[in-house]
Amino acid sequence: MKTICLEQNGPIFEIVLNRPEKRNAIDHTMIMEIDAALRTAEQDLNVRVVLFRAESQVFSAGHDLSGTAERPLAEERLDQELEEYYKKTLYIRDYSKPTIAVVQGACIAAGLMISQACDLVIATPNAYFSNPVARMGGVAAEVLFEPWDMGIRRAKQFLFTGDPLPAHVAMQFGMVNEVVDSEKALDRARELAAKIAAIPPITLRLLKKSLNHTQDIMGARESFEYHFIMHELGHTTEESQRLLYDARKDKNNLKQFLKQRDEKYVK
Ligand code: ZN
Repeated sequence: MKTICLEQNGPIFEIVLNRPEKRNAIDHTMIMEIDAALRTAEQDLNVRVVLFRAESQVFSAGHDLSGTAERPLAEERLDQELEEYYKKTLYIRDYSKPTIAVVQGACIAAGLMISQACDLVIATPNAYFSNPVARMGGVAAEVLFEPWDMGIRRAKQFLFTGDPLPAHVAMQFGMVNEVVDSEKALDRARELAAKIAAIPPITLRLLKKSLNHTQDIMGARESFEYHFIMHELGHTTEESQRLLYDARKDKNNLKQFLKQRDEKYVK
């Protein structure tokens, strides 16, 4: 494993995001390694709870955009994002065992597709959640958890402005279960995991399926699919192509552009 570490603590299987030099930016390798680890853990009867955490000051700075600056064909991007982002994120959300995320520092855009796909989220006081993709002409992230986590009105403000939410506000909004001091957060998450691990796995599996089904019959599954198509359509606009792809060639140009745009509109 190049981008994650794995740790087994009794019935708790821990997946540790481990690209601190890249602020745990999520690249292709990390997605594939997380997926492989989850699939192995799913078959392992000794694993009763999966815990995601990060070996870094931050949970994740989002997708690693440092790759190629070439614009892919729409159909290439659709296939790639469908397989790697959409399906693998929903695999975490639908995972047959309970999942917990421990979030410290930044949790940005694609980072939310791990943390918010988990069943429980424990945040440290310095954690903040941010999805500023619209500022880059993108239609949020590939999987839209926000309306389900915080409600439509809060989701609109969060996504329209791109303003970050500090941990205590995120908890108030329902994105986070508990805010726990940095030095105690992992212990608290393990304590919760141990408590959950004591429940018969089949009971939890059925209970989780029923809870997720409750959201799904309220429309979650269909709205995820609809949003994904909107997200892909958003990628094809001239604005997003210019901001998201061309900007990768020159980050300073992008910063300058965003600064000037803000100055024009934000008085
Ligand atoms: Zn995308």
